[in-house]
Amino acid sequence: MCGGLGKKKTARSLNRATQSVRQTGSAIKPIAVLAPAIDKKIITSASIYDDTEKDFEGGYHPIDYSKSLGEITVRRAVESSQNIPFVEIMEELKPKNAISYLEKMGVTSLTKEDNNLALSLGGLQKGISPLEMAGAYSTIANNGEYIEPTFYSKIIDKSNNTVIESKQEKRRVFSKEVACILQQLLTQPVKGTAGTATYCAISGVDVAAKTGTTDENYDRWLCGFTPYYTAVTWYGYDQNETVEYNKKNPAGLLWANIMSRIHTGLQSAKFSIPNTVTTATICAETGKRARTGCQNTYQEYFLWLTVPGICNKHSGSEMGNNTNNINNTPSNNTNTIIKGITEDIDAIDPQEMLPKNPSDTEKTENETTSSRK
Ligand SMILES: [Zn+2]
Repeated sequence: MCGGLGKKKTARSLNRATQSVRQTGSAIKPIAVLAPAIDKKIITSASIYDDTEKDFEGGYHPIDYSKSLGEITVRRAVESSQNIPFVEIMEELKPKNAISYLEKMGVTSLTKEDNNLALSLGGLQKGISPLEMAGAYSTIANNGEYIEPTFYSKIIDKSNNTVIESKQEKRRVFSKEVACILQQLLTQPVKGTAGTATYCAISGVDVAAKTGTTDENYDRWLCGFTPYYTAVTWYGYDQNETVEYNKKNPAGLLWANIMSRIHTGLQSAKFSIPNTVTTATICAETGKRARTGCQNTYQEYFLWLTVPGICNKHSGSEMGNNTNNINNTPSNNTNTIIKGITEDIDAIDPQEMLPKNPSDTEKTENETTSSRK
């Protein structure tokens, strides 16, 4: 928890972590859309959605911040935070179901007005506090169990008697398998070549992270976790004002700096993968099991019995060893992409440490949000 800039002038002043209820932008997508839709088996990480502008119910017409990509997998939509697929998923999921999941994950500030498709992109009537965002994200990090955030564990007196002990509410929201799928999916903004949070990578440690930005750049978020810690950073003004910071996400830079530092010296750690989760080689164009003729393939994680059918666009035989229970290392290139952001990065923008790809202009994410169009 942290407050504002400048000297503290009053006692018990505004606590922005617990009291500032802010628009979330895309940072809400994992908890409002992905978690419920995967749990209800409406989508898998490989489901194909059409990222093309269209009118939704009531004339709602969301746009992508950067260009629309046409038919893409959910994983690709997560990578650069395309907007339209999330609205399509929300249409199937129904906003009232999303609200129910959010509430189970400790979000208390939603209103009746939030029961609409704009919920999928974080266009909320009031918003969500950073603390409640952290509680909700930690449900994914804690393998599906919501644990109410606390600021102390216990207070003991000089004779070691416990005076007060923190009682944290706990409840299971979804299974560890669903949590695993979400964890793996949310590594995509960090490890994907078009990822919006590549600068959040920590050497040797799995990182899941999602950015959020709202209209006019009033709010900048980074919500994420590792096998060790969950952290949420928000950056903005108490009275809405555009956040200008060298075109980068200052909340993301804060997150990357803080998290890389607190992981210094910790052992390498990966998100655990239950042996009840299945992996398969997928054709990225069709979202189905890959054949030898498929051009763009990758390994994906699936809940039991949700592995898709075989690619119906390309030819060839099914790729060998297509469906496995995995405890072996998946063949993605996480390790080669993860870059070290370790010590002494106080003055360094972590993004500057990444290799420059000429075709790789400023990584932007698709924003929208507070406006209901
Ligand atoms: Zn194919």
